[in-house]
Amino acid sequence: SSLEDTLLAAIRTIPDYPRPGILFRDITTLLGNARAFRRAIDELVHPYAGLKIDKIAGIEARGFILGGAVAHQLSAGFVPIRKKGKLPYETVRVAYSLEYGLDEMEMHKDGVSPGEKVIVVDDLIATGGTAEAAVKLLRQIGADIVAACFVIDLPDLGGRQKLEALDVPVRTLIGYE
Ligand code: IMP
Repeated sequence: SSLEDTLLAAIRTIPDYPRPGILFRDITTLLGNARAFRRAIDELVHPYAGLKIDKIAGIEARGFILGGAVAHQLSAGFVPIRKKGKLPYETVRVAYSLEYGLDEMEMHKDGVSPGEKVIVVDDLIATGGTAEAAVKLLRQIGADIVAACFVIDLPDLGGRQKLEALDVPVRTLIGYE
């Protein structure tokens, strides 16, 4: 079957989670499906094979799982981007807005080196606010951001345009209107 059919069949939708009216796209069923997981990772990485990517930056928490697999496949290192207060060493921080209020994200200050080629990975892009914050953190340290990759796009929320306005190419595998 097509990649799109495989992924759509493997992703579960939970109505009214975490709040009434929200359709939550749950990738844990995709992660638990060996064939779908492999196909998703193969498809995410294939444009970047041979580009000598230095690091994958995974966004907490599902970006850690996908990003770890992507890093292994590209023979790249992995750097975690986390909610504030979770990382043990010296960090750089950025504030970003959520639906209600502000939050902060952090990364170890030596997590990437200036000029390193980095790909940002997360499960889903909605408004793009989370990924934009990750891009700002990485650029504070001088990373060269090659792309941002997501399994799922919610195109109506405009995240792709937000990242492209920052000159970050966006790769997504499936979209839900
Ligand atoms: P954004 O910042 O609005 O683009 O939201 C994206 C962030 O929220 C990502 O870290 C996603 O993991 C998470 N997120 C938002 N909606 C969903 C969903 O339906 N399923 C899984 N994660 C979601």
